[in-house]
Amino acid sequence: MYPEPVDSSLLKIDLYSDTATKPTREMRDFMCAAEVGDEQRGEDPSVNELQETVAEMLGKEASLLLPSGTMCNQIAFAVHCRPGDMVLLERNAHPLHSEAGGAAVLSSATLYPVDGVNGHFTADQVAEEVQPATRYWPGFRLVAVEQTTNRPGGRVWPLEQMRAVCDAAHERDLQTHMDGARLFNAVVASGISALDYAETFDSLWIDLSKGLGAPIGGVLAGSTGFIEAAWQWKQRIGGAMRQAGFVAAAGIYALKHNIDRLADDHANARRLAVGISDAPGIQVNPDEVETNMVKFDVAGTGASSKEFASRLLTGWGVRVSTPGPAAIRAIPYLGISRDDVDEATRAICSLAEELARE
Ligand SMILES: *Cc1c(COP(=O)(O)O)cnc(C)c1O
Repeated sequence: MYPEPVDSSLLKIDLYSDTATKPTREMRDFMCAAEVGDEQRGEDPSVNELQETVAEMLGKEASLLLPSGTMCNQIAFAVHCRPGDMVLLERNAHPLHSEAGGAAVLSSATLYPVDGVNGHFTADQVAEEVQPATRYWPGFRLVAVEQTTNRPGGRVWPLEQMRAVCDAAHERDLQTHMDGARLFNAVVASGISALDYAETFDSLWIDLSKGLGAPIGGVLAGSTGFIEAAWQWKQRIGGAMRQAGFVAAAGIYALKHNIDRLADDHANARRLAVGISDAPGIQVNPDEVETNMVKFDVAGTGASSKEFASRLLTGWGVRVSTPGPAAIRAIPYLGISRDDVDEATRAICSLAEELARE
């Protein structure tokens, strides 16, 4: 089953995901002017520039452009793990919910979930779960975290907690991996640098196609040896491209121009949360909006999240996602203005009032 495409004539304000960003005029112009070559041979200057830029921003020896963030996670698992190895991650993590079982298919690795708070787990949990391999117990190879945590609502890992988790992993001879799909949202929200967040990770990646506003791509970073091995996987599973510089150029542009502006998305998310917090039957805590995601609960309206979302779309042209039976998620991004957010706020309040009257 694939989600039904929505009737575009209905859709006015799309808060479904920050993946809906479209390249701006300026980004498109920059992409058009890109110098390109064959990236498989290391001859695409724009790809090389992007990879050098990201490696430097994350304090790693090397990095690799891949078509998607999913491929970044999958290749990292494949490089770190041998068949049978376990990957410790949080129960809401993207590879468990949204990567079609890739770790089992591509790496023969087992994803081992632990329960966190807001998607964050602790060094104590690592210490408790990670026991040495025996004839029976496969043993762990990797600990993976998500910054920010997606399904829990864009929550920022505290730096010290994250470092303690990495220390606990390294003390037990495990590798560490960060799914940094929204790392820069965490950077902008916390004021802590990407370098600091990245320091204790053996591998990590950033997504160019979320709030940063590029159309395609993720960049995976690590040691020279790790990226060498990642290259072979990229080739193996058909992720090696040719004149990918056009895509890389969007990434270069995004990293130069679209990081600081994530603060606007965060302000808009908070504004939306505050704006709907008094609507009848809606439960939301604006203080939990740390980055660009607003998660709210509609149980009190008497409608299911699916019903709520469907009426919001057909009645007001506002699209949101439904991560749980009563949970709604709305995400502002590049291209969603403050006026759009105010209009969406009014729509959500109107629907809540309508439901209260029924
Ligand atoms: C979007 C996302 C991914 C996958 O990225 P794609 O570029 O969509 O493949 C992985 N992890 C998290 C946390 C994400 O939000």
